[in-house]
Amino acid sequence: MSVKLRFAPSPTGLIHVGNIRTALMNSLFCRKHGGTFLLRLDDTDEERSTEEFSQAIQEDLTWLGLTYDEVFKQSERYVRYNKIRDELIAKGLLYPCYETPEELERKRKRLLARGKPPIYDRSALALTEEQRKSYDDAGQKPHWRFKLTHEMIEFTDLIRGEVAIDAATVSDPVLIRADGSYLYTLCSVIDDADYKITHIIRGEDHVTNTAVQVQIFKAIGAEVPKFAHHPLLTDDKGEKLSKRIGGLSVRSLREKGLEPQTILSYLARIGTSDPVEPHKMLKDIVGGFDISRISHSPARFVTHDMENLNSQIVASYDFSEIEIRLKKHAPEADAKFWNGVKFNLKYFSDVAEWYHIIFGNPENIAIPEDKDYLTLALSELQKLDWSTDVWKIWTNTLKATSGRNGKKLFMPLRQALTGMSHGPEMEVIIYLLGSEKIIQRMENAIDSL
Ligand code: GLU
Repeated sequence: MSVKLRFAPSPTGLIHVGNIRTALMNSLFCRKHGGTFLLRLDDTDEERSTEEFSQAIQEDLTWLGLTYDEVFKQSERYVRYNKIRDELIAKGLLYPCYETPEELERKRKRLLARGKPPIYDRSALALTEEQRKSYDDAGQKPHWRFKLTHEMIEFTDLIRGEVAIDAATVSDPVLIRADGSYLYTLCSVIDDADYKITHIIRGEDHVTNTAVQVQIFKAIGAEVPKFAHHPLLTDDKGEKLSKRIGGLSVRSLREKGLEPQTILSYLARIGTSDPVEPHKMLKDIVGGFDISRISHSPARFVTHDMENLNSQIVASYDFSEIEIRLKKHAPEADAKFWNGVKFNLKYFSDVAEWYHIIFGNPENIAIPEDKDYLTLALSELQKLDWSTDVWKIWTNTLKATSGRNGKKLFMPLRQALTGMSHGPEMEVIIYLLGSEKIIQRMENAIDSL
């Protein structure tokens, strides 16, 4: 069977890591089974949906490398939705309700006060033709609810296993607002049916929604797709991520300097029993993806872990892969330079700093107490044969002649040569700088004291 999946964000904001995790699972499942992948923009809430967000979502997906075969907007399909709406009304499955939001809220509170679940009491179903007419004549616009069949709704969830929800414990869902606009629930079912979507993977906050949709699929005579509901993301303390989600938009992670591969590698594996590993290619992530390995407990999203993974992704690039990109930050950079510094970059753009340190004039941070030591170090250095293992011989000699060891022995040399207190191994620095620059920098450091 060929599979067809979709990612269906609402263009009411930027997409964030939570959305991307859902998109990724759908995309991975799709690729693994050689299927078709659609992007659907759920934009029936015309007040909150914007063209800018639709564009931004597509740009973000493209930047991430999450490609899709087709894209469409729900707002293009009103004619179709209206047709199904009329059919459901004719079948008595969609009924008009005239309660105001305040009335509904009062009913809700009353039920809760009596310790009852706040399920809609269906009083609109009991309205007579005359009563409806008098509301209509008074210009009161109804919202429309789908009449659930009160029975057990059962489906097999690819992550959660057998799910059974008693429809009597759920309010008849509103499918059309009083202003005539559609809620995504009905449109989603019509689209999934028309586009022959075979699998729907989404967050577990949609489980009840799915139960309702299963009945709508049946009501419109469509085949019910397979569902999988994944646990949601939490932060490292187990709190819902939604509070801080603004800072976790794909846009902001991109601006911060994260590689798309980092985001995908990380999101593909958190909340599964598989280790988080750096993958440069989506196809490598696809290979290890197995929906049955998604855990039933929430996935922890830890920004720090993702940043660590970013360093690994950056370090995994060969010079040939990033040569063009590298030249933007470091015009004269060569493979020797890249291989020397690549393990010390949190973000790719950090390479500019190391470029300046190796090829430019880094700031001098030598301290006066080290003046004699650096003078000794320079004179020992000038005696060395550069064809040998300079760093080892230099520091061994200095250990014997200065009596220093450990940090006191190494740090002044690192600082004099790089203007930094951390960085690549000193052997690498020595190799990248070469004798001339090293002697020059030692002289400058001594002169500055
Ligand atoms: N637009 C819906 C949402 O973002 C889609 C849910 C679904 O996948 O069906 O929540």
